[in-house]
Amino acid sequence: MKHTDQNSGNGGYTRSHRMPRQYADSLLIMAEGSEVRLKDAGGREYLDFASGIAVNALGYGRKELAEIMAAQAEKLIHISNLFTTAPALELAEKLCSSSPRPEDQPWKAGMNPGYFNAVHFGNSGTEANEAALKYARAYQIRSGRKRRNKFLAFSNSFHGRTMGALSVTSTEKYRKPFSPLVPGAVFAEYNNLKDLRRKLKSSIAGVIVEVIQGEGGIISMDREFAAELNRICREKDIILIADEVQTGLGRTGTLFASEAVGLEPDIITLSKPLAGGLPLSATLITEHVNDRLHPGDHASTFGGGPVTTAAGSFIWDEINRPGFLSSVRTISDFLEERLEAVSHAFPGVFREGEVRGRGMLRGLVVRDPEVLPRILSGAMEQGLLLLRAGTDVLRFAPPLIIKKDDINEMERKLRTVLGSLK
Ligand code: PLP
Repeated sequence: MKHTDQNSGNGGYTRSHRMPRQYADSLLIMAEGSEVRLKDAGGREYLDFASGIAVNALGYGRKELAEIMAAQAEKLIHISNLFTTAPALELAEKLCSSSPRPEDQPWKAGMNPGYFNAVHFGNSGTEANEAALKYARAYQIRSGRKRRNKFLAFSNSFHGRTMGALSVTSTEKYRKPFSPLVPGAVFAEYNNLKDLRRKLKSSIAGVIVEVIQGEGGIISMDREFAAELNRICREKDIILIADEVQTGLGRTGTLFASEAVGLEPDIITLSKPLAGGLPLSATLITEHVNDRLHPGDHASTFGGGPVTTAAGSFIWDEINRPGFLSSVRTISDFLEERLEAVSHAFPGVFREGEVRGRGMLRGLVVRDPEVLPRILSGAMEQGLLLLRAGTDVLRFAPPLIIKKDDINEMERKLRTVLGSLK
């Protein structure tokens, strides 16, 4: 079967008529990758500042990773969750009790090691959040608070597309076609202390929050907001869920983004980079949440299979390798500096030198949202993959292993695109 349109000069594009209409009419077929570069089926090369969408943290073509996956696949691919496997146990142990290096760990004393007590494995970010929401409700019900069943979430939030996670996602565009959603979601304005104090009441079972809002436009949580979330949740025994599906595992320069703002969640959800591109998610829970769970409360057929968790251990070890995160921070400072320079050089395109985000999750705010698709397609033509976030933010989420030269190359290509905008 012919999948490409190479002969018609259409590069590696194909019409996606066997995919549901939720996807673009025409999709580029990607064929292979190496380090921070991808090649399409037509042989064109792309410098990747998207990483999937913040998934491929260690880049492409990692031979050791492929070997680990293959070796485990030869031994055992699947077993039901009536059993467990050595890779699942090993990764759960690492996620719960492994203490990151002191240089990379400015978190509250006592949070590590052993801050988290157990981990539920699923297959995607949205599932990790579903588990977290269920745990928050189970915690309250089994603490004798049957009427405490609401969830607090925030403006601009994105927590996934299954019905529960969608119910705490604020963006109308995602919610509207699928209503009615799960009842009980209340929304407060992100980073607004007054609104938080007004809405984080004793009727709330759990609050779910992104430390840096990814899809919502790369908006970072203030320290004061984090401190107030901690304080009210402790005082009222509300379960604090940090959705670190996009920000977790080193993306923002610390193992968890929560560390950098002092957020102290009872539950952290992780997914995107966790298994090096295979589907895996983790819902990390503290002991007091775990103590309220009963056998059969929650499960997943494929979640935490031996191949994905074996890959997860490799990713975890790489990210926690001494010096890895400090090098992410150093290179990301350079990324920030270059993005600031680009933003200053094109004041008609970008809003006043504003570089959003932290680490390797960055955004530049465009003045005119209509220009964003033109920047993205222009970048593709230059062999550069970028992302959007929200309606008006150009998002940069490169593999964590990018080097200064890659950033320089990205800047050159981006300037060419911006220079050609009319
Ligand atoms: N939560 C956050 C913060 C996300 O960024 C995403 C995906 O972009 C999700 C949840 C949903 O993850 P998934 O697409 O794996 O279900």
